[in-house]
Amino acid sequence: MRLILRGGHVVDPMNGVDGPADLFVADGRIVPPFPEAEADRVLDVAGCIVMAGGIDLHSHLGGGKMLLARELMAEDHHRHRYRAEGALRAGSGHAVPCAFHTGWMYARMGYTAAFEPAMLPANARGAHLEMADIPVIDRGAYALLGNDDFTLGLLAAGEREAVRDAVAWTLRATGAIAVKVVNPGGIEAFKWGLRKIDLDEPGPHYGLTPRQILLGLTEAVDALKLPHPVHLHGLHLGLPGSAQTTLATIRALDGRRVHLTHLQFHSYGRGGPFGFTSGAAEIAELVNASPNVSVDVGQVMFGPTVTASGDTMSQARNAAHAHPKRACVMDIECEAGCGVVPFRYRHRNLVNALQWAVGLELFLLVEDPWRLALSTDHPNGAPFHVYPELIRLLMDRDHRNAVLETLPAAVREVTHLADIRREYTLSEIATITRAAPARLLGIDAEYGHLGPGAVADVAVYERKGDWAATFAAPRHLLRRGRFVVENGELLGEAALEPGVVHVLDLPDDLPVRRRAARFFDEVRGLSLASFELAEEEYAAGGLERHPLRAG
Ligand SMILES: [Zn+2]
Repeated sequence: MRLILRGGHVVDPMNGVDGPADLFVADGRIVPPFPEAEADRVLDVAGCIVMAGGIDLHSHLGGGKMLLARELMAEDHHRHRYRAEGALRAGSGHAVPCAFHTGWMYARMGYTAAFEPAMLPANARGAHLEMADIPVIDRGAYALLGNDDFTLGLLAAGEREAVRDAVAWTLRATGAIAVKVVNPGGIEAFKWGLRKIDLDEPGPHYGLTPRQILLGLTEAVDALKLPHPVHLHGLHLGLPGSAQTTLATIRALDGRRVHLTHLQFHSYGRGGPFGFTSGAAEIAELVNASPNVSVDVGQVMFGPTVTASGDTMSQARNAAHAHPKRACVMDIECEAGCGVVPFRYRHRNLVNALQWAVGLELFLLVEDPWRLALSTDHPNGAPFHVYPELIRLLMDRDHRNAVLETLPAAVREVTHLADIRREYTLSEIATITRAAPARLLGIDAEYGHLGPGAVADVAVYERKGDWAATFAAPRHLLRRGRFVVENGELLGEAALEPGVVHVLDLPDDLPVRRRAARFFDEVRGLSLASFELAEEEYAAGGLERHPLRAG
């Protein structure tokens, strides 16, 4: 279909566009202007905001943790039943909608891609198959490393080349696009009885410190020229004083690239009248001064949700605060942990209110939107479908302050939020929800923008009374040049098609594979043959292979 979107307000920060412009679409791509006579259709979108499809670089979409979370959320599914074509369907639930409904909920916000950030390599097959059930959106996954015995053994032996090859082999064997490190060495140490580990504390078995593990994997990711740096869930999640650990972690990296994920959960100070305060200002200052660092926030929003993390240290602590009172904390294949804890963030709870404020401080104090991505760490801070309300908090200071007024007064004493005047512009919103995630993942040649050559993923939003209403539902959503949402309605056929899987163009047949085979035979309860995925196992909907970084 050759289509012209006429007269919209195009917001495309990657190409420096923020104003009235026409958009030309042919064969699923954005193309240079062509005469109206050659168009199959001309759509008048005057007065509407036109952006590339949204890209969520951190959303727990699939894998064992999400299945466990659904099992633990009976009440949530009871309260949020989902009907389609007259029948009750799987897919109900506010906190962890099923894979299928997840795609529709993203489409209904104008999103066209989301990335699962904590795929256990041993569970890659299950995670990919579950994600293949998500219609509409493109997807990808980050492989969890840094607590698994194979990599830790190589790191402890100082075999840097083997570590590098093991990283490449794991990403290729599991169809992953990036490396995720959760509490480096901490999940491993948890199994030996430790409940907290510091940056320079040797682990009980391998004798490696979290700093050594992080630097070893960062070196491997850099040597391989992976587009996305180590996606780091740091130490001391949720603890007062975590801000000091986060500052020390940034300094430990000494200019090497890193992406600090759900930074909000790692930005708490100690002390003050409540023993718990905001460390956001100091962290934002160091992030601003560190061009090697990118972040996503993991914003907390009030209401019920479920927390799901590989970080058994933090989840074992959180289990005491479960709501409803049930939780699951376990090890999986000596690769990493898994902790699932239902939770409710409350306005009147000082700690929860402070978490909300700390997240917003980070959004507003980190100056460069190209190094920040919008996330709630779905479902850990809140389910992803609260994004429109989060966008309103960023764009509308009066609204933000009105919500702040409903929180315990102490929040205004120990944070700077009330004094921050910044309001995000439309261009900044397009950056943190589209352009920056695409660039940070290395998929920005064809995604996250609306220049000629880009895949025609396009969201058209009608301006409504407030920003949350505006971004709650696109009037139109194009995916690869075809309508998925038209005049606010999800279209049956187009809304059933799966997206592509983003992977990397990685070397095959690395010598480290022979060592892995031996390790699997001797140590693991899993054969190498069933660990490695064939491409066709995760390519439902197509594969999009991205080049490694040049230079
Ligand atoms: Zn996460």
